[in-house]
Amino acid sequence: MPPSVLKPAAGKCDPATFRIVLDVGHTAESEGAISARNVAEFAFNLRLARLIAERLKADGFAETRLLLTEGKARPSLFKRVASANNLHADLLLSIHHDSVPNKMLEDWEFEGKKSHFSDRFSGYSVFVSRENPDFETSLRFAELIAKEMKAQGLHYAVQYSLPIMGSNQHPLLNKDTGVYSYNELIVLRKTAMPAVLLEAGSIINRDEELKMDSPEHRNVIAGGVASAVQEFCDPRWSLLGPL
Ligand SMILES: [Zn+2]
Repeated sequence: MPPSVLKPAAGKCDPATFRIVLDVGHTAESEGAISARNVAEFAFNLRLARLIAERLKADGFAETRLLLTEGKARPSLFKRVASANNLHADLLLSIHHDSVPNKMLEDWEFEGKKSHFSDRFSGYSVFVSRENPDFETSLRFAELIAKEMKAQGLHYAVQYSLPIMGSNQHPLLNKDTGVYSYNELIVLRKTAMPAVLLEAGSIINRDEELKMDSPEHRNVIAGGVASAVQEFCDPRWSLLGPL
């Protein structure tokens, strides 16, 4: 384990040497979900991950790395895990934007093009895998991210706890902040370092897509993630605020 990893009871880590990898979900070739207005999830993920990386670097986390992966969906998952492991990161955060299972999609037209949406659910969600080699630390970081999202006035996506999600139903570990376990996720279970996946918000929900597209809202999320990393690195940060 890298020496700078902070164990729950330990002191603090050094932002100058602490390496967080921001994994941009999906690839240019396999772009993930398609939004209600026909924009690929990958574009949303890249834009938000870049902003989070900027914020962290500005906060002194100079070793922050953006992880971009190429290729088709499934092989890209193993490629991204190998890249993250080669980077000897202390922490991995995978950035995604949410959709719904196909059966929930409804039809509409956007700019003359047949499109799909579902306004039924919205919100962020945070996932961890019990199969990660350091589940405890992953969960601790997940709790911090979810707490910061909630503190920004955001609400979490409740649908993952509902039977209607079928195979996409997952145990809710924190009913207050919206941390779920999703044990099978490759990017969380095969990584050698603590790992968390953030679904920043829904892009299939027509109102929330507009929000996720706004610089103001992206700033709120990036600020929340940066605060969570600060606090992860130094638990006193939550009491003292930015030094
Ligand atoms: Zn995704």
